[in-house]
This record gives sequence, C-alpha cells and structure tokens, in this order.
Amino acid sequence: MRRGNIHLPKALAMLACVLLIAGAARADKIVLKNGRKIVAYNVVEDGDKVRYETTAGQMALPKSIVDHIERGGIRPLMGSPADAAADLNLEPAEPAATAGESEIDKGAVHDSLVDRNYINHLESGAAAGGAQAIQAARAHYAASRFEMVKGDLEHALADARAAVFYAPEDPAMLMELAYVYLRRSEFKQSLEYLERARRYAPNNPDVYKLEGWTYYGLNRPDQAAAEWKKSLALRADSEVQAALDKAVRDKAEEENYRENESAHFQLKYNGAAEPGLAREVLHTLEGHYQQIESELNFSPPDPIGVVLYTQEGFADITRAPGWVGALNDGRIRVPVQGLTGVDSELSRVLRHELTHSFIQQKTHSRAPTWIQEGVAQWMEGKRSDENAATLVQVYDAGQAAPLGQLEGSWMRLPGPMASYAYAWALANIEYIVQTQGMGDVERILDRLAAGTATEQALRDVLHDNYADLMQATAEYLKKNYGR
Ligand SMILES: [Zn+2]
Repeated sequence: MRRGNIHLPKALAMLACVLLIAGAARADKIVLKNGRKIVAYNVVEDGDKVRYETTAGQMALPKSIVDHIERGGIRPLMGSPADAAADLNLEPAEPAATAGESEIDKGAVHDSLVDRNYINHLESGAAAGGAQAIQAARAHYAASRFEMVKGDLEHALADARAAVFYAPEDPAMLMELAYVYLRRSEFKQSLEYLERARRYAPNNPDVYKLEGWTYYGLNRPDQAAAEWKKSLALRADSEVQAALDKAVRDKAEEENYRENESAHFQLKYNGAAEPGLAREVLHTLEGHYQQIESELNFSPPDPIGVVLYTQEGFADITRAPGWVGALNDGRIRVPVQGLTGVDSELSRVLRHELTHSFIQQKTHSRAPTWIQEGVAQWMEGKRSDENAATLVQVYDAGQAAPLGQLEGSWMRLPGPMASYAYAWALANIEYIVQTQGMGDVERILDRLAAGTATEQALRDVLHDNYADLMQATAEYLKKNYGR
C-alpha cells in the first residue's frame, strides 16, 4: 500500500515536470479583492467559482472574492535540453593529434557526402589499435560532426560510437558521443560518456556545461546548477550563466510556490514528510477552508502559513507542553511523523487549527482562548456527549471554572485542567450554536474584532453575562445528555 502510493505520484510529478520543461505554460494572475495575487495556470471562470491548476491539484475560489484575472499569455519556458544543446557554443576538446588529420577529415567527408569506402579502408587496418585505430576514430569523428550538422542524429550516433570504439580514452571522442546522446534526449547515456571524458579532461569547461544539460534533462536541477557553476569557474560563459540563473529561479519557484502553496495556504514541511502528504494536506485544507468560510461568513485576507513537523521537531521548535497535539501561533503547526496520507484524525486536526486562523484574522487576535478553543472543537466535529455528565457534576458542585478565567493562555495549565478547560469551552459554544445558531457566534466575533470586551460582547449579542451563559450551558447539558 505504502509503496504503491509513493511511486505513482513521483512518476507523475516527474512526467509533469518534463512536459513543462519541453513546452510553454500559460501563467495567469488571479487578483483578489484584498489585493493578493495568485499566480496560477489554466484559470477558468466556472459559475460562481474561479478554477485553476496548481501541482497540488485543481483549486477553486469563490468568484465573489476575485477582483479580476490578468491573462499572462504564453510564458516561454526553457526549450528542451536537447533543443538547447543544439544552439550551444561549444569548443570541444581537440581530438588527439593524428598524423595527416586534415587529410583524413577531407577523405571522410567530401562533396557533401560521407565517404564510407574511405572510412572502411582506414578501419581495415585499425583492428590492431595504434596509429591506424586513431586514424579510424578521427574519420568517424569527422563523419559524425558532418551528420550532426545535417541533422542526421541516427548516423551521427553510429559514427560517434565507432569513434569512441577506436579511441576510448580521447575526451574529444567521448564528448562528441555524449553530445549526440544529449541531442537525442538520451540523458543517461550522455552522462555516462561525459563522466568518462571528465576523467581525461578534468579542466574542460564544456564537460561541465554539457553535464549541466544532461542533469537538467534528468530533472535534477540542483545537480545541473552545480555542474554549471564548475563550468563557470573554469571559463566565463554567458550561455552557462543564463542556464544557471534559470535553474536557480525554477528551483525557487518550485519550492516557494508549486509544491508548497495553494490558494490560501503557504506550506512548509520538514524533509522527513512525504511530498505527497504535503499536497494532500493542502488539498484537505482548501476543502475545510471553503466550509469554515461559509460557516463564519468570513474570508481571511492573509494567506495562512502551515508547518508540518516530525514529532521531535514539533516539540523542539514549539516548546509546547506534552499535551499539545498541534498548535496555531499565527501559523498552523502540526506534527505528522509517520503519516503518508491525510487520515480522518489529521483532517480533524487541520480543521481545528484552521478555525483558529479564521478567528485570529476575523478578530485581529482578540478572541479569548475559551471562544477560540470552543469554536475550533465545534468546527472539527467534537460534541459534549462523553464529557457532559462530568461537566454538570462540576458545575453543580460550584467548581466550574469561570469563563472569565479561561480568556488567557492555557499553555501553563496542567494536563487534567487543560482537558477540563477544553470540554467546558466546547460546551458553552455548543450551547450558543445549538440554541441561537452560528450567526450569534459570528456576531460575537465581530464585536471582539471591534475591540469590545468578551463579556460585553456576550451581553450585546446573547443578553447574557458570563454567569448566565454558564448556567444556561449546564442546563443545556442536562437536558440534552442527561440520563
Ligand atoms: Zn485549539
């Protein structure tokens, strides 16, 4: 199960990437009413939605929050490595000095044709190696160059291979063969001969220039950039510099946008997490976003940061008490160690933390903790059932925590007290939602956003103070969950 899940998306991701390299993509800009711009592909208007593509999948925005779409036209991407190689300025290593080399070149190619009889004649004496083998190699090399110019990659390959056969340690022959393979988009073979050429010509900048292109063709832009840097260290070359600049930009764009960002989220994830998991998390978050958006009648104006951690990373970086499973300190921070996909538990956690982000942005961080945690639990789907009896018992004993004391941070609460605080906060919000509706929660949040104190906001909207609300909640619990 795990293995199948990992390999398929990887293969697909690579395929998509290769297609992008070879083609051109239309990049549009979606400009939101809040001024934010989203760079996206294949943007289409579809009823009351605007749909577009990212590598995280297809995304949709409500049209009501979109101001306009800027059509970007075709954005040319780099041509295929093979195409690019055709235009390269190369100064290949001069083949090893051969007796009568210009005579051989003329003998192998004249009158716009390759003279096969001449080459066969040279080959007939080359089996023993030595000077005659080098002459045969030179003849094939000349033929290969000629066919390459004609665009006959098939014969160019055959001659380049023959040249390497007769002169297996000549870097010029090895580079010629590597170049033909590169032009044929046969990158692995190209790399093999470049590695051999490098052994004999470690200071030839064209070896690294071509290696850069083969790595680029193999979808390894990091390695390509490293090779191009080596080439530049040996010789200034505007072609190599341009290729390097583009590779660096591509890499940055992939890291910052394609893999890790969706319409409303900027995702960072620890290297130990699966890239497929990151995409699934974004997709899940976008789904939750739309539901919470309509429940709270609010669209957060700012993109929401999300960080996925390994378990240790989460504890180290957040320094949260042990009972904290995930948290939201402006960014949603979730430990995902060992997960390869979004299960129902992770989905609930994401929905809970995302609710915090909505409330933070809606109230400018003015919501008290009990409202934050109460609404977040409600949104994640938790209800008071299992805790109702205990909460009523505590209330009836006069031990209920006053909500006014649950406004601040809960991070210092000991574990059992924190559990109680969560359950009590949920019960109070559940009572409001079930008896008055989510609209009242929304109105309370609006008052808080305007700077009203929490208890005053309750009075304004519910006509209740804290004591009234707690009493009504206890009665609600008895009525709905009592035996
Ligand atoms: Zn929470």
